[in-house]
Amino acid sequence: MSHEGQGNARQASGLATAESGPAMALSTDTPTIGIDLGGTKIEAIALHPDGRTLASIRVPTPRQDYEATLQAIAALAVQIEQRAQFDTPASVGVAMPGSISPSTGLVQNANSTWLNGRPFASDLALALGGRPLRTANDANCFALSEAVDGAAAGAHSMFGVILGTGCGGGIVYKGELIDGPRGIGGEWGHNPLPWPDPSELPGPACWCGLNGCLETWISGPALAADHARCYGEALSAEEIVALAKQPSGARSSTARATLQRHAERLARGLAHVVNLLDPAVIVLGGGLSNMAHLYDQVPLLMRKWIFAVDRRVDIRAPRYGDASGARGAARLWQQARPSSQ
Ligand SMILES: [Zn+2]
Repeated sequence: MSHEGQGNARQASGLATAESGPAMALSTDTPTIGIDLGGTKIEAIALHPDGRTLASIRVPTPRQDYEATLQAIAALAVQIEQRAQFDTPASVGVAMPGSISPSTGLVQNANSTWLNGRPFASDLALALGGRPLRTANDANCFALSEAVDGAAAGAHSMFGVILGTGCGGGIVYKGELIDGPRGIGGEWGHNPLPWPDPSELPGPACWCGLNGCLETWISGPALAADHARCYGEALSAEEIVALAKQPSGARSSTARATLQRHAERLARGLAHVVNLLDPAVIVLGGGLSNMAHLYDQVPLLMRKWIFAVDRRVDIRAPRYGDASGARGAARLWQQARPSSQ
């Protein structure tokens, strides 16, 4: 592995972008490190470009502690290199909540809000001791992983969705992650719920400052909050799914009604994406992607909203699921350029 290049000009100028560290050749046969920085855990893997995981480690996220988060990631990179028996320091990709603003170099849009406004990429590059670093939004990494060798492998274009504690999205077109000058490619969870019923306005307050964002309707906590608003019963999304599977009873029918409202709202949200991007495949990820009914019902519910004669939509379950954050982060080094440039 070579470390050519003229050092770290971006970092020295303070203009941290989605890439830090020495210039590197495209990694097509060299294993790279992928790290998924989640709200509760950090997962690190060494990934061979052929798809083999050479080592993996998972640790709790030091919540609310920025410095400890940097140190935890740096320590994981060293441990992964040791476990995978790398001879030289490896390139590192990090899947993160939110993203690095290409114009300021600071974190934006992270629901792990203690990261926002921090120069995460340049700080982390220092903590990593000069290892080449790329960062991308966690939903973008999920999409890239599922596009390269996951559920959407071989698809011309795909939209990856994470439906978990939040709601994120990522776009891969002809194998390349799509992002732009704002670092928000695929960010879809803070668009409003489309075609709202009057009862859905103005919509729940969102942490981003707006009301009625998709995230406030279709994430896991949003599903639970909708059930609580409608029926006065505080249940988790998992409990609602379990209740809905019971054959009879008032509580199971209200649980089924909640899942129906959720599926219909997800259909409206995804129809917007299809009308804009026309992706060949949609892959769902996050905790709610375990809900089997989504794959049958949502494509049918979307038909009403799709502006085409052929209204079929291909929605797939993920191949790697939660592992796709770290896998996609490692695969950032198989992209010809950082995602936001
Ligand atoms: Zn929002």
